[in-house]
Amino acid sequence: MPENATATLAAYEPIAGKSVVDELRQLAGRLAGKRILMVNSTRKGGGVAEILIRMVPLLAELGLEVRWEVVEGSEPYYKVTKKFHNALHGAAELFTQEMFDLFLEVGRANAKRIPLEADFVFIHDPQPLPLVEMRKRHPSSRWVWRCHIDVSRPNQAVWRFLQPFILQFDAAIYSTPAFAQPLKMRQVLIPPSIDPLSDKNRDLPQEEIDAVMRRLEIPRDRPIVTQVSRFDRLKDPVGVIEAFKRVRRSVKCRLVLAGGPATDDPEAEEVLGLVREQAKGNPEIHLLMLPPDSNIEINALQRASAVVVQKSLREGFGLTVSEALWKGRPVVASAVGGIPLQVKHHHSGLLVHSVEGAAYAIRQLLGNPAYAQRLGENGREHVRENFLLTRHLVDYLLTCLTTQYADETIFLDGS
Ligand code: UDP
Repeated sequence: MPENATATLAAYEPIAGKSVVDELRQLAGRLAGKRILMVNSTRKGGGVAEILIRMVPLLAELGLEVRWEVVEGSEPYYKVTKKFHNALHGAAELFTQEMFDLFLEVGRANAKRIPLEADFVFIHDPQPLPLVEMRKRHPSSRWVWRCHIDVSRPNQAVWRFLQPFILQFDAAIYSTPAFAQPLKMRQVLIPPSIDPLSDKNRDLPQEEIDAVMRRLEIPRDRPIVTQVSRFDRLKDPVGVIEAFKRVRRSVKCRLVLAGGPATDDPEAEEVLGLVREQAKGNPEIHLLMLPPDSNIEINALQRASAVVVQKSLREGFGLTVSEALWKGRPVVASAVGGIPLQVKHHHSGLLVHSVEGAAYAIRQLLGNPAYAQRLGENGREHVRENFLLTRHLVDYLLTCLTTQYADETIFLDGS
């Protein structure tokens, strides 16, 4: 299969189950020929792009007309949207009127540039929110805001600014109830998903894993602890290094921090600088700056790891957790954002709340491989049940149907 080609739907039957694929076909039959537009802020880097890359071709295979558009902006605009992102997660950020004006100006320029004709428009995260001002030109279309981040405790200045846009949508989707805001509108809960057949997650032969690790120059002489994440403060790469240094006092192991650039994240360089500083002089810490589309590399790294860490301070869903669990890897992850949906403490991984807690949990798993293996196996089944792309697609199609017929009862047998 060529890189990033989407497997056809039938290939999901043995993995996700025939019933969910049948359900998908049945639902899609009700929406045949409908036009869906997805709009987000980047084609590469980060969880939203990761999901759309896989979801868009499958929706097309299901008979829908799907387009994926990306808002474009300048460096100063990306700085503002990054501040919005942090502030919506609750960080104390200061905003000026110029920042709000720039957000609007770029948003409106994108609204003019992007063709918005569609039956269903899914706006992902805050960046493309101003596009909704144009919906009056397309009276029959339905607009859904797909919020991937935790907006339960947002910075009020930014939330007050965004709310008038959000209220113009027909529905808002959150990943978990804990992320939601009380708004007078239809609200839907849909956790994200991973694609078990993508290059990021499909089975890899051992020789391929070994070859990737050789190419990345990661020695296999000791167990490997890995975090895969953008170099972002909220992913706490420095905290991961601190935890590793504590573990290292008593257990021989290596740490891999694998990240890469996201076009919409101007802070990455600065965070990488801090990480380099912390890792300096420690040959057991391997920093990997991976190019976008390093899917096989990430797949192999996760598979070659004795423990996968996700020590975020704040998190959206945290796709990297499901990616690791799907590979049967034991996971140590912070109890933030959508991570507790994926990691049930002592069942499908270990949840932690601090550097010390992370160090303790990593040591526990490195010291008890049978226990670690059991957590990983449980994790894989938990992901199979809850976080595969097929279930996610069912939820999107149901959202289209229920938004389209908001005031009617739908019978799936077509009556
Ligand atoms: N990822 C990647 N390359 C990197 C870092 C991350 O491909 O260098 C992927 C990672 O495997 C996952 C996604 O980007 O699929 C990150 O999603 P997540 O929900 O964990 O975090 P986000 O970046 O959206 O905050």
